Amino acid sequence: MEYNILSFIYLLASVTFIIGLKMLSHPTTARKGNAVAAAGMTLAIFGTIFLYNEEGASLGNYGWIFAGLAIGAVVGTLAARRVKMTAMPEMVSLFNGMGGACAALISIVEFDHLMHLPGLSGLLLVLMSASALQGLLLIILLGLIIGSVSFAGSMVAWGKLNGSLRDFSFRGQQAFNIALLLLILGLATYLIVAMPANALPLFYVIFALSLLYGLFFVFPIGGADMPVVISLLNSFTGVAAACGGFLYDNKVMLTGGILVGAAGTLLTILMCKAMNRSLTNVLIGAFGGNTATAAAGQSQGSYKEISLSDAAVVMSYANKVMIVPGYGLAVAQAQHACHELEKLLTAKGVEVGYAIHPVAGRMPGHMNVLLAEADVSYEKLLEMEQANEEFPTTDVVLILGANDVVNPAAKTDPGSPIYGMPILDVELAKHVIVNKRSMKPGYAGIENDLFFRPKTSMLFGDAKKVLQDLITEVKNS
Ligand code: NDP
Repeated sequence: MEYNILSFIYLLASVTFIIGLKMLSHPTTARKGNAVAAAGMTLAIFGTIFLYNEEGASLGNYGWIFAGLAIGAVVGTLAARRVKMTAMPEMVSLFNGMGGACAALISIVEFDHLMHLPGLSGLLLVLMSASALQGLLLIILLGLIIGSVSFAGSMVAWGKLNGSLRDFSFRGQQAFNIALLLLILGLATYLIVAMPANALPLFYVIFALSLLYGLFFVFPIGGADMPVVISLLNSFTGVAAACGGFLYDNKVMLTGGILVGAAGTLLTILMCKAMNRSLTNVLIGAFGGNTATAAAGQSQGSYKEISLSDAAVVMSYANKVMIVPGYGLAVAQAQHACHELEKLLTAKGVEVGYAIHPVAGRMPGHMNVLLAEADVSYEKLLEMEQANEEFPTTDVVLILGANDVVNPAAKTDPGSPIYGMPILDVELAKHVIVNKRSMKPGYAGIENDLFFRPKTSMLFGDAKKVLQDLITEVKNS
């Protein structure tokens, strides 16, 4: 009876995951989608705690379980409340790493269970056919390897994003990584096929090598490729969790893991497409902000500035203004001021839109989330392809704290670390006004020739302050 109720709960929870994921695909339903999936997860957790029983015995250990739940809930809630929107990818990495670690720990515990049953080659083999045992070992090792790589890789990604770790690579690193991966797979295959009597040391060697591989896998990847790697690691964690679902014959864990794995894989593919690069190129390219070209930083000539009042006049008398939001807008928390300027210009009869680059900001969908928070109408947000079609008929492009996503080097300079990434073709418009605080580079650490082009005028200052001043000027113009 309890088993039937639990099965029903798992089915219900799996359905909430699917509905929640679907709702996450649109900004207007995303919040609710998150809540729906979280409710399903809560149901699944409490269902497992109170209704699961093995051979008539309930789970027990309630003290440990609830202490762990309480600590996790407090840490998670505080972290999520305190995190700044711009530091979200760091937190995603950290939490994703924890998921990978959990999957690896499940494998360690389950391997230990196998070892402590009365002899791996004795009674167990009588109870269980060799192939069933090998199947179990395969799942345990997959969970261990993928979970450990995801954990170690996510920790490196977390360190890189918060600036405490730098890109690191050495000559022959790709060959070293491939050799390491082959060694791990070779040892795992040996363990499964030969089933040696004392397998524990070998198991821990595989564990250590997988952690090492996770570190070396992410160390050389940097710059604008970080979002792709984080989403790839996310899909790894999903697959590792699905292995746990297999092990425990737990349908909800299996469904959840598969959904995370599939969603992460799709996001990885979409981001590679957005950057016009293959996944292999992302992983092997050692693309970062520290190559010779990236660090060049030589001055490209002179740039011109525009005053606040002139900028206000140019925009007020334009037919069409396109706003390009970037990371700087998020740092300055200028989204509300930005929306106010948009409303003001619209009231003056100007057509205003937002050109959204898929990797603007520091996380997928960052600009959509930011602008939705300020109640900007979703209809006003144009995806890159749409925006690029609109630029030739645009009078003024106002770039707010964006840099890499409008850098023409991505199209023209094969030596540039962002070469190949599609960009917003802002230069097709009549005027380009760029707001940032200085001439410093953006995330990829490279100069931007756009700032020195004849159509471009610089409007220096913090995005929020500049927008507030612009609002005053537009009201007066
Ligand atoms: P960039 O990081 O290229 O540039 C942001 C610019 O904002 C800087 O040049 C900075 O110049 C300016 N800025 C910073 N603070 C302020 C402020 N308070 N007011 C005004 N301007 C400010 O941003 P983009 O959005 O153009 O590009 C995103 C980059 O991040 C890409 O390279 C992308 O690949 C990468 N990335 C994206 C992720 C994603 O998933 N979206 C995740 C991780 C990385 P100054 O200091 O002079 O003010």
